[in-house]
Amino acid sequence: MSRSPGKVYLIGAGPGDPGLLTLRGRQLLSEADLVLYDYLVNPRVLEQARGDAELVCLGRHGHGRIMSQTEIHQRMISAASEGKTVARLKGGDPAIFARTAEETAALEAAGIEYEVVPGVTSAQAASSYSGIPLTHRDAASCVAFVTGQEGEEKGGAALDMAGLARFPGTLVFYMGVTKAAEWSAALVAHGKPGETPVAVVRNASLPQQMTIVTKLANLPQVLDEQKVRPPAIIIVGEAVTQRTSLDWFASRPLFGRTVLVTRPRHQADSLVDRVSDLGATVLVQPAIKITEPADWTPADAAIRELASFDWLVFSSANGVHFFLERLTHHGVDLRALGHARLAAIGPGTADALAEYHLHADRQPEEFRAESLAESLLPEVKGKRVLLLRASRGREVLAETLSAAGAEVHQAVVYQSTDVTTADADVVAALREGRIDWITVTSSAIARSLAKLFGDDLRKAKLAAISPLTAGVLSELGYQAAAVGSPYTSEGLVQAILDTESRQQR
Ligand code: SAH
Repeated sequence: MSRSPGKVYLIGAGPGDPGLLTLRGRQLLSEADLVLYDYLVNPRVLEQARGDAELVCLGRHGHGRIMSQTEIHQRMISAASEGKTVARLKGGDPAIFARTAEETAALEAAGIEYEVVPGVTSAQAASSYSGIPLTHRDAASCVAFVTGQEGEEKGGAALDMAGLARFPGTLVFYMGVTKAAEWSAALVAHGKPGETPVAVVRNASLPQQMTIVTKLANLPQVLDEQKVRPPAIIIVGEAVTQRTSLDWFASRPLFGRTVLVTRPRHQADSLVDRVSDLGATVLVQPAIKITEPADWTPADAAIRELASFDWLVFSSANGVHFFLERLTHHGVDLRALGHARLAAIGPGTADALAEYHLHADRQPEEFRAESLAESLLPEVKGKRVLLLRASRGREVLAETLSAAGAEVHQAVVYQSTDVTTADADVVAALREGRIDWITVTSSAIARSLAKLFGDDLRKAKLAAISPLTAGVLSELGYQAAAVGSPYTSEGLVQAILDTESRQQR
């Protein structure tokens, strides 16, 4: 049976900030079987693709093989002919310096259906994220997008420099860094004043964004002195003088900082988002892995007699998820919890219960085992208490409650194991002093980090989620530079911000 042919979507991925992908682009990307992407596409945009989609980078100058334009066409056509949905992700917008016309012509010739989805072009991002308008009622009534590399490969027509020098508005150069000496001199030679203001915006909309303002005559020297490498947008014209006085993007509190998040992958997102919204570059290297317990027998036995417990005590969000999913596995639902009352160690755990429409009857003021035990003490004598816990963890809860006369049962509902090898890029970044902060969100993570990185851990500041975690770090010989209060990820981020602002004063 022949399959119906697939379709190709040429999608603008935006300039860098993954939040600038359109909703249409995200939807199509999430449906694609094959994703062909330009090297300038932010890897975080690729996270929108399906887990089982094939992701192919089309190469980068100076970094391994670059797929030729013909090969790209063949790849799209053959995948679509096999019935696959193809997302061809392009940096910025597909209509601007992106060879889209060649690709659509090849698809048409092969009878392949396609659609084009616009994206935010880097000139727009450079403008919005640096506060420099491209047009202005007093300074520029039109704008031109210009390539700084015209004719180079094609042996084609050179730019009309005389025309550009006379252009009555803003000139925005793409691919302008390498040949800046030539084109800026040509503009001046054709009468554009050397005093014309110029802004260079490198890595627009990314945490590494850098903006330099100069004048046309000095551009090549400034690019050279500051060692500016592509990708950069160069804005030439009076509009540059209209830059906002507030640099909203680069003045965010963690701008220019790099933060390493060490949570298990499935729990990292909210912390990653929070820290990157504050302007930081975020790297992720999980220090522990969370999986099913090696042996479900004790938990299963407890589930069979669930209705006989007076209290179910959860000491982490992971415990909530693994335990309640296990109920589903046994074909029972929340009614199996009977009249048991529920205790949560902190707000994250209570939130996890709330996702299942369960209310935590008890939640201590301080998010640690001692406080939880204390809050339960007055009412556990003679009661059956089930602790749903990790494969490793502290015994304080069980010991304190037993001592108070509770009948304590423990069931391991998930396993926490150390990650034993770190990503080479993360290791190098840490070693070279390129990481400013490492978040340490549990004692298990603290211990694992010490094994993973050893002495290199001293090359960044450590942010511990609680005094307990800071204590574990200190026992291991490391000093926490910030300690969360409250003991939540919000509290941790706040502690980083407080330490940063103290150090700036
Ligand atoms: N289609 C893309 C342009 C591709 S040409 C778009 O619409 O943006 C590649 C050039 O785009 C680079 O040389 C640089 O001038 C510019 N560019 C791409 N990403 C950029 C970024 N994050 N910051 C500044 N310039 C960028």
